[in-house]
Amino acid sequence: METKIVKIDKDNIDEDVINEAGLIIKNGGLVAFPTETVYGLGGDALNKNSSKKIYEAKGRPSDNPLIVHIADIGDIEKIAIDVPPITYELAKRFWPGPLTMILKKAECVPLETTGGLDTVAIRYPSNPIAQKFIKASGGFVAAPSANRSGKPSPTEGKYVIEDMDSLIEMIIDGGSSDIGLESTIIDLTSDEPMILRPGFVTKEDFLNVIENVSIDRTILDSSSGAKPKAPGMKYRHYAPSGELTIIHGEPKDVVAYINEEVSRYKAQGQKTGIIATKENSGYYRADVIKEIGNRDDDESIARNLFRILREMDDENVKVIFSEGFREEGIAMATMNRLLKAAGHKEVRV
Ligand code: AMP
Ligand code: MG
Repeated sequence: METKIVKIDKDNIDEDVINEAGLIIKNGGLVAFPTETVYGLGGDALNKNSSKKIYEAKGRPSDNPLIVHIADIGDIEKIAIDVPPITYELAKRFWPGPLTMILKKAECVPLETTGGLDTVAIRYPSNPIAQKFIKASGGFVAAPSANRSGKPSPTEGKYVIEDMDSLIEMIIDGGSSDIGLESTIIDLTSDEPMILRPGFVTKEDFLNVIENVSIDRTILDSSSGAKPKAPGMKYRHYAPSGELTIIHGEPKDVVAYINEEVSRYKAQGQKTGIIATKENSGYYRADVIKEIGNRDDDESIARNLFRILREMDDENVKVIFSEGFREEGIAMATMNRLLKAAGHKEVRV
């Protein structure tokens, strides 16, 4: 299939392109589009054949449900039932934005979209291109991240093109994602709200609006063997082609350990790379060194992670070391993705 690739400026949105994209969705086709978190691979959420096509294009297991994107809070009850009042409190505070809420699904949402579950994940993104595109598409766009399954989520149009060219009808390139990590997912279908995937909206943010919230314990800890409640969280994810290991410890110990390991791999003729904070980057020796941000700048670290993992692939790096980051607030979301990318390979020095 020939994929139409168009660039859109979010400050001057070309309505003709948006209408064309909306028509593709209404006719059962697929369009990749920018959001503030990562790029989405969109299809009509209420058309089971569109959802099937999304799974095919991604190469994703079909028990891994899709998030339904809306562009109007009033549309929640068109696709969800038994909606608890806190849904609206959370929507008022965090929507449009990087929050996905799990609710009981209405009849009209096909099981193909929800991976066979009787619940539906709903998000109202803030990116203006995404909002216009969702409206032009009929209001309900099912979209997982626009990467091939297993690869890091795309935060730039060029990585969507790399993964999806010739597999879908259209790619809208709207520049770099502002947040760079997927949405926080909160489940509102049980007695106590539970965070199933950490993201930019943190536990502390929720506690400003609602009384209690728990966190799925599988998020940072793989040792319990428990099954994550968001089906997608059980799969290996975000993996660069190179072997990635996370090193935790005092900065000088981390630097010494990584440099020693890098020398060892270099002696074996392997191309090496390091994901480093700005404070430490000058102390490393390796083929490729990527600065992810200042140690205390959680937002920059979150925004740059997926791009850097992709760049390690672009530069054909075979052995990658990353410094570990804090495990609170937004940094918890970064560590969750980094741990998955590393297949939970970590060393404490
Ligand atoms: P992605 O958009 O690629 O980040 O994938 C969507 C994520 O949302 C996956 O981790 C899914 O498991 C999760 N998700 C979607 N729908 C549900 C649901 N009904 N219940 C729990 N998790 C869900
Ligand atoms: Mg994804």
